[in-house]
Amino acid sequence: MTQRIPLIAGNWKMHGDRARARALLDALKPLSPAQGEVAVCVPYPYLELAQAVLGGSAVAWGAQNVAEWEEGAHTGEVAASMLAEFGCGYVIVGHSERRREASEDDACIARKLAQAIRLDIKPILCIGETLAQRQAGSTHAVLQAQLHGALALLDSTALTRLSIAYEPVWAIGQGQAATPAMVGDVITALRAMFGEAGASVRLLYGGSVSAANCGDFAALAGLDGLLVGGASLRGDEFTAICQRFCTRREGRSLPA
Ligand code: PEP
Repeated sequence: MTQRIPLIAGNWKMHGDRARARALLDALKPLSPAQGEVAVCVPYPYLELAQAVLGGSAVAWGAQNVAEWEEGAHTGEVAASMLAEFGCGYVIVGHSERRREASEDDACIARKLAQAIRLDIKPILCIGETLAQRQAGSTHAVLQAQLHGALALLDSTALTRLSIAYEPVWAIGQGQAATPAMVGDVITALRAMFGEAGASVRLLYGGSVSAANCGDFAALAGLDGLLVGGASLRGDEFTAICQRFCTRREGRSLPA
């Protein structure tokens, strides 16, 4: 039976300023759920601050993007090696906001994943369908195609370091999460797609997660954590999510 350690990751997106970042990092530093990992993915300029505040704590930090190239003339890009210099344990790759705003396609996302893995930074790959795709009944097909494209350059050993966040585009930042039944259906499908070779891949849910609804997701077999956007900007709320999810999850039996 494969034991997957739960992961609760915060995605700060492009919010805050240095003072707010400092206060939030200070608030999160004591977090240490008995049965789980916690990470915060901060804007690039606050990585050094995250390293200074969180270093030596149980809370990991990471970035929200990484360049698809190793180095070179790529104005405005940040290399995986640079993230590694700031101690990043995680990086979000393929968030729907980047797919939409920066036109990232699956081939680009595959190269980004490869860069992260090369530097031993654990990627959190985001996949998810739009509302129109869900209404057309193509959710599973969309997710399968995104996975197929994004994982094209990874070998099976890389899968042990991979987390995948199922983030339905229509649930992000809306205050209306997907139902546990919808998430459970997708998680079951993803586990079937991966089979035994991907038994170590952590599957997360993201989309309007709050302290109020996180316990419902913890009860889902096969789900290993959460990617939290807006609610990760409030120290008390994010702390409650981490504690509730990990406590509830400990109470259920873990699937292979
Ligand atoms: C996200 O953007 O990854 C996210 C899950 O956002 P929110 O929790 O605000 O919906």
